Amino acid sequence: MRKIILGLSFILCLIADNYCLAWSAHQHEAIAKLAELNVKPATLAKIRDILKGETMVSVATWADGEIRQTMSETDHWHSVGIPVDSDVTRENITTFYPESNDNVIYQLKRLIAELKDPKTPAEVKYTDLKFLIHFTADLHMPMHCAKGRSRYILDTDANKAKEKAKEKPESLHTVWDGMIKIKNAEEFAVKMNKSITKTQKKKWAVNDPDLWVFESFKISKEIIFTDFPGTEKYITIPDGYRKKMEPVAQERIKQAGIRLAMLLDYVFAK
Ligand SMILES: [Zn+2]
Repeated sequence: MRKIILGLSFILCLIADNYCLAWSAHQHEAIAKLAELNVKPATLAKIRDILKGETMVSVATWADGEIRQTMSETDHWHSVGIPVDSDVTRENITTFYPESNDNVIYQLKRLIAELKDPKTPAEVKYTDLKFLIHFTADLHMPMHCAKGRSRYILDTDANKAKEKAKEKPESLHTVWDGMIKIKNAEEFAVKMNKSITKTQKKKWAVNDPDLWVFESFKISKEIIFTDFPGTEKYITIPDGYRKKMEPVAQERIKQAGIRLAMLLDYVFAK
């Protein structure tokens, strides 16, 4: 079924000649593959055992699927909307988290604790692990950790047509979610893995989800929203915007993969 859906999305992408959600799915899959390439063999054995034959790549987008309807409370678990004009620092970021549990940082911490607990039943660990693989990636998508005015892009013909038809045009958030065009997630992950230096790995290997949120928030505030000041609902993105932002998005994908591997090694350490 999943193959059919992905196949249809691909065909639709070709027809629409536009960015589709499928690119976001590919980013999740690439991050899962990158992590798979970097976890310790003992960790990978435990992951395979819990996932009962499924792979990290095959479950990477499960949390974005039907579960959002069947367990509707999970719909808000993918982001933490810290207002972008907040005076956030690395030290005070936790004071800006919402009080409710309906956010990605609370859920990620809960999942880590449950997966580390030997008393957690196998079927709960199966679901927890799929969420953890997905949410670690979501935390690294800059727009998932900051909340500003919703901005819609008006510089594509497809969006202009949608706006005329009163349909929802592509948003700045969607542009960022799908910033990197990936045709084959696994091949892309292998390529990315080769490009990561030992120095980068060492620098990124900080097992601290609050820091990961802070980095995403900072990119949103200092790069994304700074490029589009003002409060108007519709904006035009300049020529070459995606090309210019590609390295930023690509680095977040690499960091997410390395950190997901580190987190899984920590969760499944003896
Ligand atoms: Zn998500």
